[in-house]
Amino acid sequence: MTENIQQPKARKLVGVKGMNDILPPDSARWEWLEERVRALMARYAYRNVRLPIVEPTALFIRGLGEVTDIVEKEMYSFEDRLNGEQLTLRPEGTAGLVRAVVEHNLLYEGGKRLYYMGPMFRHERPQRGRYRQFHQIGAEVLGFGGAEVDAELILLACDLWKELGLNDVRLELNSLGQPEERKAHRAALIAHFEQHAGLLDEDAQRRLHSNPLRILDTKNPAMVPVVESAPRLLDFLGEASLAHFNAVKAILEANGVAYRINPRLVRGMDYYNLTVFEFITESLGAQGTICGGGRYDYLIEQVGGKPAPAVGWALGVERVLELVKEQGHAQAAPVPDVYAIIPDASALPVAIRTLQALRSAGVSAQMHAGSGEGLGSMKSQFKKADASGAAHALVFGGDELARGEVTVKSLRDGQGVQRAERLEDLAHWALSLQSN
Ligand code: ATP
Ligand code: MG
Repeated sequence: MTENIQQPKARKLVGVKGMNDILPPDSARWEWLEERVRALMARYAYRNVRLPIVEPTALFIRGLGEVTDIVEKEMYSFEDRLNGEQLTLRPEGTAGLVRAVVEHNLLYEGGKRLYYMGPMFRHERPQRGRYRQFHQIGAEVLGFGGAEVDAELILLACDLWKELGLNDVRLELNSLGQPEERKAHRAALIAHFEQHAGLLDEDAQRRLHSNPLRILDTKNPAMVPVVESAPRLLDFLGEASLAHFNAVKAILEANGVAYRINPRLVRGMDYYNLTVFEFITESLGAQGTICGGGRYDYLIEQVGGKPAPAVGWALGVERVLELVKEQGHAQAAPVPDVYAIIPDASALPVAIRTLQALRSAGVSAQMHAGSGEGLGSMKSQFKKADASGAAHALVFGGDELARGEVTVKSLRDGQGVQRAERLEDLAHWALSLQSN
């Protein structure tokens, strides 16, 4: 006899705030997106990279810039207690990718077109479309300096929206020019903001002399007038920068891509120069930017590599999928083709062997399993079969099996039509269903 000892109930543990579990049926939408991305990247001849989620903290400080939202207040940084290393959960993918490209000398034999998918981490206030663990898909082209690759990346993103059935996405474009052009603009910018010092919020005041360009990236609505009236970087661009910008625009126009010039578009990291762009939707409320990118010709050198140009973008998977949902392209949750009902455990060996054969033929087959002792009544098994969404139940009854047959019962025709099918013909039968 077991003694009735009252164990204190274990306290339920919950996940970290702002970090989400992605579960069925939602995870099907994620797989659907990832498959489309992989196929599209292959059509553009971009190759996949898989990089560590943890990098040395110094990489992000040096790469993204000390006076940026991410480095100032959003990074998950910690010391590895075992060896004292300063580490950070990656807040974005570009810095780590550039680190890997330099470390493995990937540009040795020419430029590279690469893409990645994976989680990123930023300590922000969680809200719709803004999480602490979120996911990005990024495309990066390294070693090529021409406007045609900037345009190629934008065309690739546009193709992806098409592929996903998204039409409410607009493109904003700007040029950040080159460092020396930004220097002249910076002086004008500081003068402008000093003139209106009373209108600056705390962040802006702090950044006025360290990184005034960042002020243009403000999310504070009260700052809009003073930012709108600020000198435009576009007016400080030299001939070469303007030519690059015009070349990008010309390719977009030739390919029917609409865009809007946004002179205040500066992006959140310091590594950008020349072309910057964002894809924005009005359908997601405040978190409307689904993808952002631009050229970063000086980052490779900054991370210790031989100078080489580069350009890329990253999209926010959660926001893109929210938009997919919003625009009504709901993916049907995946269901098995057949559900195996096993009236008696003695049928298990044949049933399992049969299901294995079906699966190797490409049929999706779910086997009934009991929740405790035994497999349960036929009635409860049929209930589970129904709930599985399968179109057909396979009943592995003893009498049929003795004849080398299994009963196939339709679960979705409203009448439960059933017939016998020979075991050896089953895979053939199931595949003929799929092609209907
Ligand atoms: P935002 O202006 O919305 O803060 P950002 O400029 O910080 O975006 P990027 O660093 O450019 O964003 O990242 C590219 C994309 O990743 C964004 O356009 C967005 O779709 C997504 N993203 C960024 N931060 C988050 C987050 N905390 N949660 C979910 N998605 C995010
Ligand atoms: Mg941000």
